[in-house]
Amino acid sequence: NRLANQIAAGEVVERPASVVKELMENSIDSDATRIEVDIERGGTRLIRVTDNGKGIDKDDLSLALTRHATSKIQSSDDLACIQSLGFRGEALASISAVSKLTLTSRTHDSELAWQAMAHGRDMSVEIQPAAASPGTRIEVADLFFNTPARQKFLRTEKTEFNHVEEVFKRHALANFSKAFVLKHNHKIVKRVPASGDSSQYLKRVATICGKPFADSCVEFNCQHELLQLFGWLGKPSFHRSESDIQYVFINGRPVKDKTLNHAIRQAYEGLLPPGRMAAYVIFLSMDPHQIDVNVHPTKHEVRFGQQRLVHDLLVKSVAEAIGECEL
Ligand code: ADP
Ligand code: MG
Repeated sequence: NRLANQIAAGEVVERPASVVKELMENSIDSDATRIEVDIERGGTRLIRVTDNGKGIDKDDLSLALTRHATSKIQSSDDLACIQSLGFRGEALASISAVSKLTLTSRTHDSELAWQAMAHGRDMSVEIQPAAASPGTRIEVADLFFNTPARQKFLRTEKTEFNHVEEVFKRHALANFSKAFVLKHNHKIVKRVPASGDSSQYLKRVATICGKPFADSCVEFNCQHELLQLFGWLGKPSFHRSESDIQYVFINGRPVKDKTLNHAIRQAYEGLLPPGRMAAYVIFLSMDPHQIDVNVHPTKHEVRFGQQRLVHDLLVKSVAEAIGECEL
């Protein structure tokens, strides 16, 4: 079992940022309105994610650390229509196989928090009472302490933290109604207050993508039968040498998808100087039955029931929106 978990961890847990991704996804799925991410030494020493979400019952704590135990999918019908970010039930089991994990949680109707620890060993978790506010706190210390081969692939503290910050930004951008805090080595790096209504969305875009982008982008909004689009597009005059401001979300899930990226590139084709890249934040929403996110354990890729149509609608909508802003 421990070996199986370590093997699974190889797919899901590449570096500290992968842990942050999984923990933030869980906090978002828990309906938290406030999520704090605390990092020490690029995440190699400590990753702590604290939320004020619905929490985990004492009786379900050790289950949460068990592989393939998920509270989010009950049937294969649910799998065909995934609404939550998580559904594989293997993140916590995998992470705990390669770190020293402490899970503390309190449901809103409980007086007390409960704590479970799993330190890279078999899943014999001990559960004890603890003091904490309602919600969940997961601490992941000494990542890869028992897998030296993985440890060798870690880069500098700064590089690992940059990856963590990227993950943080993606999720903070996708969840306007939630507040986020990111700390590194006890200092606040980003504080993102909840955006009460859509008039404050652009402020968050500025916090995450920078003011120059926010000042020069155009908002776009497009409704098709199959697909609804919403977001901010950098004008062709605002271009980058890197792909650092390219965010695409499907039903709130950050994705890096070839088909979608190709469509956006095509829409900007001929408008950017050679070698320069567009900047954009695009939210797609569609019927979850039309999307398969169960393609890869990291869930970055997706398949569409109507791949071609989604591609072409995206090209057309983006091209029209940036065409209009040129005038
Ligand atoms: P998955 O997210 O795919 O279900 P995980 O291994 O990430 O699998 O988490 C296992 C289970 O632990 C979840 O299904 C959920 O019930 C519970 N859980 C994990 N993190 C949290 C959290 N922050 N708040 C509430 N429940 C959580
Ligand atoms: Mg999860």
